[in-house]
Amino acid sequence: MTYACEQIALKLSNAGVERSLAIHRFGEPGARPKVYIQAGLHAAEVPGMVIVHHLLPMLRRADGDGKIRGEIVVVPAANPIGLGDTVLGVHLGRNSLASGANFNRGFLDLAAAVVSQLEGQLTDDADANVATIRKAMKGTIAAKTPKTELDDLRLKLLGLACDADYVFDMHAEEDALFAAVMAPWTVEHREKLVSHLDPQLIFYADYPPLFDTACSRPWADLAKHFGTSASIPQACLSVTLELRGSGHVDDDQARQDAANFVTLLTANGSIEGTVAAGKPLVEPIRFEGVEFIRTPVPGIVVYRRLLGDLIEKGEIIAEVVQPFARDLDAVRLEIRSATSGVFFACRHAVVAQADDVVGKVAGEEALADPKHY
Ligand SMILES: [Zn+2]
Repeated sequence: MTYACEQIALKLSNAGVERSLAIHRFGEPGARPKVYIQAGLHAAEVPGMVIVHHLLPMLRRADGDGKIRGEIVVVPAANPIGLGDTVLGVHLGRNSLASGANFNRGFLDLAAAVVSQLEGQLTDDADANVATIRKAMKGTIAAKTPKTELDDLRLKLLGLACDADYVFDMHAEEDALFAAVMAPWTVEHREKLVSHLDPQLIFYADYPPLFDTACSRPWADLAKHFGTSASIPQACLSVTLELRGSGHVDDDQARQDAANFVTLLTANGSIEGTVAAGKPLVEPIRFEGVEFIRTPVPGIVVYRRLLGDLIEKGEIIAEVVQPFARDLDAVRLEIRSATSGVFFACRHAVVAQADDVVGKVAGEEALADPKHY
């Protein structure tokens, strides 16, 4: 048995409120591959937390059977600050109530932070370089003094994940198909990240800067910086998983997703065993082809199309009902897609404000203005 659970306290920021992270560890520290899995960084995006709830007992059974080969670190609720952010009974969790900061932004740029200390230290020995770079990253994070609880949370999560071979960050939309979001430097390795998980869509983009890319991007940036003078592999593969919708958490689906994770971890050599090849993956789509469809007017969104529908450019996906309008001929405004593709994400029945995103359509064609702001 290698399993251990530890509780790490975060820096005290609010008088009288001390929060902590629960961290579950399997395998020998330092064993490879190291896998890092977290859920709930956007604290209202709950499906991942339920998946991890099912995954942990499965990992404990594998551990009890002596089958953990690498190191697996799991943080089931990565954002205790956001878990507690409620306003008048409504839970928030995506942005800090105290500062407005998006919880999935603002992570340290590790390549910029370590590049100067690596000058003259790297060779053509890739394995030695990976060890040197990981040590520099861990040391740099450990030397930081966080100013706030949120700073501390970001540093602690990055410190747990930055030396991993695989990083999985679980998120969700309000209501959506299952999408995996990768970066250009990881998408070619997608089989290792999402095989057996069966995402319905795979996107890739080098923006915005997310937790997962804070872990994997440094390797791409350092390889570019040092060029042919040093051998630097893509030693961390990471992915952000958008696990459908927070509005429809299904316990059976979550249990199946957890079992799929065990299959993936077995295929990747973290757990002993053999698995059959996974289904062929869907083709990745450049994120510039994903239109964020925004409403020009406020109102209540009613949908004309279902998630998963194939939409033609110019088709109506929804209407915005404006019950406050005086002109009864103008109480419904049609919302059309500017691209052809799969309608994969929508909102709940809420009051939308002008310019809010009300739907997302994934098309093949890169859009001049996909409205990703
Ligand atoms: Zn999220």
